[in-house]
Amino acid sequence: MKTPDIKIPLSRPDITDLEIEQVTAVLRTPYLSLGPKLPEFEDLIAEYVGVRYAVAVNSGTSALQLIIRSLGIGEGDEVITTPFSFIASANCILLERARPVFVDIDPRTLNLNTDLIEEKINDRTRAILAVDVFGLPADWDALKLIADKHKLILIEDSCEALGAEYKGRKAGSLGIAGAFGFYPNKQMTTGEGGMVVTDDERIARLCRSMRNQGRDDSDDWFGYARPGYNFRLSEINCALGIAQLSRLKEMLAKREQVANLYNLKLSVMAEVITPASVSDVKRSWFVYVAILKDKPYTINRDTIVEELQRRGIGCAKYFVPIHLQPFYMEMYGYKQGNFPVTESISRRSIALPFYTAMTEEDIDTVVRHLKDIISRS
Ligand SMILES: *Cc1c(COP(=O)(O)O)cnc(C)c1O
Repeated sequence: MKTPDIKIPLSRPDITDLEIEQVTAVLRTPYLSLGPKLPEFEDLIAEYVGVRYAVAVNSGTSALQLIIRSLGIGEGDEVITTPFSFIASANCILLERARPVFVDIDPRTLNLNTDLIEEKINDRTRAILAVDVFGLPADWDALKLIADKHKLILIEDSCEALGAEYKGRKAGSLGIAGAFGFYPNKQMTTGEGGMVVTDDERIARLCRSMRNQGRDDSDDWFGYARPGYNFRLSEINCALGIAQLSRLKEMLAKREQVANLYNLKLSVMAEVITPASVSDVKRSWFVYVAILKDKPYTINRDTIVEELQRRGIGCAKYFVPIHLQPFYMEMYGYKQGNFPVTESISRRSIALPFYTAMTEEDIDTVVRHLKDIISRS
């Protein structure tokens, strides 16, 4: 029997004629870098997030690295963070020669379990870097209490949470500085790109300088106030970001619709846990991750992922625990069993296809195949 070819990708950017026109318009000007689109994009993001300063960079990873560096965190310092995240949120600490100290997560929100933080604090601890995992803001009130009590800096990796809100405040504005990423699978994209957002003038100034070889605003092109990088974001990327930001509300609403349909259709499956909602917290939908229940079920997640992929349905294992990456185990002695909640969730999570253009028919197809595969396993 001939089965129809399914091709449902894991994610897909939402690009319209507006983006194409605004990007090509830049190409007709002489300004391809450090032109007018850069401050325009930065100002729009700062306004959207509700902070004083935004500094555009070439990736979310660069944004995180510049935040760590601008805070002077380095050799001998420890930073508390989550092992259940994209690897960049821990690498930014390691690469500045500070030590990432992991704390396990809450099994429902998948964010840092704040009850477990204080036992990891010592006199080398400088900061807590909390991630708003899958677009759900972390428990920022609890984080702030701990940070104030122990005089620690709070850093927000809000790369997955553009548009999310915690008690009426936008993600990115919840720590001393926040980082956004604009890779094509995020809520909005610049191709590659990122942004530091902060109310702290000093952090903004240092990040602005270090993204541009360490130049200061007042400096000439060959004057350098400090060592820096080339983490600049081109005018082409900024124009794409401006167009995407103008459509963000519409795109977030579509993502929410898709998520609600998944929630509804998966709610009848006893074997599956749908993403948590938390009162007073507004998730910005980055990915749709279903968690397979463990007891009394014995469903093998890896088999399901392989079979979905074989049938043309894009899916992924979000996330693999950071502490179990071989170089983390080697450098810091982390091993299997250190963070049981993270490890258990990681073994049972499946990111399903998720993007604005998904139709109800696409969602039905995904759910039908998921049910079919689970019923056979
Ligand atoms: C996407 C992401 C980043 C940054 O990613 P880039 O690909 O460098 O833009 C950082 N942290 C988290 C949690 C992310 O999801």
